Amino acid sequence: MLRGAGPALLAVLLLSRTTQAFLEEMPAHGSRPGLKRLPSNESSPGYCERKTKPATSLGSWSLSTETLIGMLPVDPVPENYIRIVKNCIFSVAYPTPFKSRTLLVAVSKNVLEDILDLDLSVSKTDYFIQLVSGEKILSGSIPLAHRYGGHQFGIWADQLGDGRAHLIGKYTNRHGEKWELQLKGSGKTPYSRRNGDGRAVLRSSVREFLASEAMHYLGIPTSRALSLVVSDDDVWRDSFYNGNIQKERGAVVLRIAKSWFRIGSLEILAHYGELDLLRKLLNFVIQEHFPAINVKDPNRYLDFFSDVVSGTAHLIASWMSVGFAHGVCNTDNFSLLSITIDYGPFGFMESYDPNFVPNTSDDERRYKIGNQANVGMFNLNKLLQVLNPLLDPNQKQLAAQILGGYPTLYYRRFKELFKAKLGLLGEKESDDYLIAFLLHLMEDTKSDFTMTFRELSEITQAQLKDFNIPQEFWALETLSRQELFSDWVTLYLLRLKSNMNDSDSRRRKRMTSVNPRYVLKNWMAESAVRKAEMNDFSEVRLLQQVLQNPFQKQSVAERAGYSSPTPLWAKDLKVSCSS
Ligand code: AMP
Ligand code: MG
Repeated sequence: MLRGAGPALLAVLLLSRTTQAFLEEMPAHGSRPGLKRLPSNESSPGYCERKTKPATSLGSWSLSTETLIGMLPVDPVPENYIRIVKNCIFSVAYPTPFKSRTLLVAVSKNVLEDILDLDLSVSKTDYFIQLVSGEKILSGSIPLAHRYGGHQFGIWADQLGDGRAHLIGKYTNRHGEKWELQLKGSGKTPYSRRNGDGRAVLRSSVREFLASEAMHYLGIPTSRALSLVVSDDDVWRDSFYNGNIQKERGAVVLRIAKSWFRIGSLEILAHYGELDLLRKLLNFVIQEHFPAINVKDPNRYLDFFSDVVSGTAHLIASWMSVGFAHGVCNTDNFSLLSITIDYGPFGFMESYDPNFVPNTSDDERRYKIGNQANVGMFNLNKLLQVLNPLLDPNQKQLAAQILGGYPTLYYRRFKELFKAKLGLLGEKESDDYLIAFLLHLMEDTKSDFTMTFRELSEITQAQLKDFNIPQEFWALETLSRQELFSDWVTLYLLRLKSNMNDSDSRRRKRMTSVNPRYVLKNWMAESAVRKAEMNDFSEVRLLQQVLQNPFQKQSVAERAGYSSPTPLWAKDLKVSCSS
């Protein structure tokens, strides 16, 4: 039946077995002169009082880095200059305020109210913009830059670290959740790249703000973004590394995550033989973020590894389910909590193509979408190398087995998600084939990934049966040009018949709740960025609003063309690492 669609297409789904082979005390630091502090409520250290109503002023709200500083060693050198730092997890580093005026472009109401317990009115105050732009910090909070290393494009890159980010504090909310607030683009730190300016430009900040929020609403584990601030400070970038240096504007995103620790956070310690510190950080991470693991258990590192392996497998499968390519899957960009972090030259795939590479600087196509699962394996293998010195021979063997189980975990999750995308209930042996067959047709016809699944969710079985594809279903129309389309439809309809206790309306309801109608395609982000660069932030806000309900058809989004084919002007858009 599946003429010409042999093993090649299954490679999209299945991880090749061959790839498995690679498969203290802090010194007293005063405030930095010149940097103003905002008052905070000293009587509630580290967290806001447990109120049911969001706070209407920052005066009764506070942040703290106390637990981090109290439990993990901090660099004794207080000066802020670029250097190699040893034997610590953090350096104290204060944000560098912008010199020019700043403008608050966007705020996430959900992050503000539901996570940070702040009323929306707070975001209208000067206090707020001073806080989220890095101009002031709350008293009680000592800002930190984190020391980490990592493998970049497969090669050990040595010390990296927060070179343009500042952790301004931890907040414990009314649900008892702890969130770490970090500014990105807020100035140099000891970990800045040589010649790095510590800044982020408006275009990359708009992209990170919108994409991280969009991913959250797609149901994918991710850092969140509270706010986006733009300044008039000049930032110079060679955006395509072709000698064309241009003036751009500095911007800051305040982003939050339960933890910003990465594989690279551990790698740097193992690399420099700082094994006591490695144990300390691991124990801290386990205690704070892996409550099911007993920190006294001799198998705790093994259990931790197992959780990261399955978390990473699940995360990458979920990226694949929405066609998300991270773009820079280096170990320093892979979270220990298996959330999506460090949005750079990411892309949502348009035409289905396992070779899709969003980052034009990735010449070797290392981080193409179809290779993300393999790269996950590579990164987990680096984590295993870090843990090995802490494991006994038996545990080492078990850890290797856990890593060996990654392809199965990934594939199982991938299949679950794609079965849901097709509305399949129960389990049939032929399900792999049905999914792979469809992806093959999509690859062959270059059908739009998002809209093909969405239109399959919206079309009725009766319409499919009669090949009566409504005119506006442009992605399915493209797919139907493949000569094997009718074979696939026959198999699909037959398979849907085997769904127990189902109806077509129930199937469509299920499918529309997992197949988004709107994702942040590159052209949409680009359109918003171009306007933002002319001081028109309307499309940033429009996209923010639309992407909060990606599964719901919205007239404003339809009018903007967000579910239409990519406009011609955007066909050759490129994104690079420069940010
Ligand atoms: P990224 O590619 O954003 O994951 O960053 C890799 C490393 O380069 C991290 O250590 C960053 O902090 C650092 N870095 C990136 N951009 C800058 C910049 N403009 N100034 C200083 N350091 C930077
Ligand atoms: Mg990074």
